[in-house]
Amino acid sequence: MLPKEQLIEKWTSSGIVKDKRVIGAFKKIPREIFVPEDKMDEAYGDYPVSIGKGQTISQPSTVVIMTEALEIKEGDKILEVGTGSGYHAAIISCLIGNKGKLVSTEIIPELAKLAQKNIKKLKIKNIKIIEHDGSEGYENEAPYDKIVITAACPKIPNPLINQLKENGIIVAPVGDMNEQLMIKGTKKNGKLAEEKMGNFIFVPLKGKYGY
Ligand code: SAM
Repeated sequence: MLPKEQLIEKWTSSGIVKDKRVIGAFKKIPREIFVPEDKMDEAYGDYPVSIGKGQTISQPSTVVIMTEALEIKEGDKILEVGTGSGYHAAIISCLIGNKGKLVSTEIIPELAKLAQKNIKKLKIKNIKIIEHDGSEGYENEAPYDKIVITAACPKIPNPLINQLKENGIIVAPVGDMNEQLMIKGTKKNGKLAEEKMGNFIFVPLKGKYGY
């Protein structure tokens, strides 16, 4: 079995990921495009891979778990904080369809450019990558149906809660720089109803509401 198929088998047999659409997106997007050339043989290892500038492409299991938690529907407008390589953005792009839109923010200019290049290779049209401090959200395109933060944050930044629609979902790793608890927050009456999804380790969120 190929490493990519082994991952799918691991997720489906353990029940970690149940949404067939998420598995379908994982099958469709070639992760090897998003890892550095000299690390291509590590594309389907279930661990984060360095993409330069001290940053990483998140491990495949983390990407699919977070994506499933977002409960993405076709046509959703989504904000991603932390584009990195653009891989997670590409997975999300499969689920929102042509009518959906993903706005993805990246604070490191070189990585924003790298992600734009990667996304272009796959001819993906429903993603807009912006070099921006996403800890403040991105007011110009708000409100969003879903928001995903792919870096460790001390708390979920208030501007992001404000930019989320009522009944919208935000998924974010919250904690200190050593370990974070993945939070799935659903906005009810202007506040987040939170579910805990277990512990993860991410690179820190920078910017105004980060570390
Ligand atoms: N989603 C990415 C992928 O698929 O490759 C992985 C993201 S990596 C774990 C976290 C990213 O968040 C890094 O690229 C980092 O530069 C970015 N980041 C950190 N703070 C940020 C901020 N305030 N606004 C936008 N991006 C930020």
